[in-house]
Amino acid sequence: MKKKGIFGGTFDPIHNGHLHVAYEALYNLKLDEIIFIPSGNPPHKTNKIVTDAKIRYGLVKMVVKDEKKFKVSDYEIKKNGLSYTYETLEFFNKLEPNTQWYFITGADCLMEIYTWKNIDAIFNSCKFVVFNRSGYKKEDILKQKSEVESKFDKEIIFLDIPILEISSTLIRSKIKEGKNISYLVPKNLNETLKKMNVYR
Ligand code: ATP
Ligand code: MG
Repeated sequence: MKKKGIFGGTFDPIHNGHLHVAYEALYNLKLDEIIFIPSGNPPHKTNKIVTDAKIRYGLVKMVVKDEKKFKVSDYEIKKNGLSYTYETLEFFNKLEPNTQWYFITGADCLMEIYTWKNIDAIFNSCKFVVFNRSGYKKEDILKQKSEVESKFDKEIIFLDIPILEISSTLIRSKIKEGKNISYLVPKNLNETLKKMNVYR
């Protein structure tokens, strides 16, 4: 049975923090591949201005093409309306019913999991993988993990890996301030962003 990871996010823009955890997940969980899924219109970010999905998707695609086990899907950006995780998982499970899907997400998402739609369906259709993010104490994450585990009677995998303190918010504000982002994003992304008129 193939094992594949699903790594969803706004990716506004994708950065080395994302790539680092994706790579760690790939090797620690011995996955065959990781599919990056940029969100279309993220339900929890409806109050924020998000860069056009086609641009975010295009940048992810450009960045992951160098790693053959990294893929990108336009499923969520092509879908009209909001993109819910349970629907994405349903889609991929139908597409490849014989694949064991791993849903990879940061501690920030685990902390707000009760705001997600159809959590039961999510836990029933994948192995849920959580990694740490700066700003969260490990003990708080582990507490939330065991609470959610007993509530849904499912095991959550905690990936205890070093975390890079990078966020898309940081990248966007640096670009706006005209600061250098050379070592926070892949080289080709930095070069492309310089030519494009996004985030300024
Ligand atoms: P923003 O600052 O706009 O919220 P972000 O950097 O948090 O952006 P998202 O697209 O919101 O990026 O996150 C997608 C996924 O990547 C989430 O699961 C999030 O926890 C994770 N993630 C984001 N940044 C990092 C990082 N530096 N290290 C590990 N995981 C990260
Ligand atoms: Mg975020």
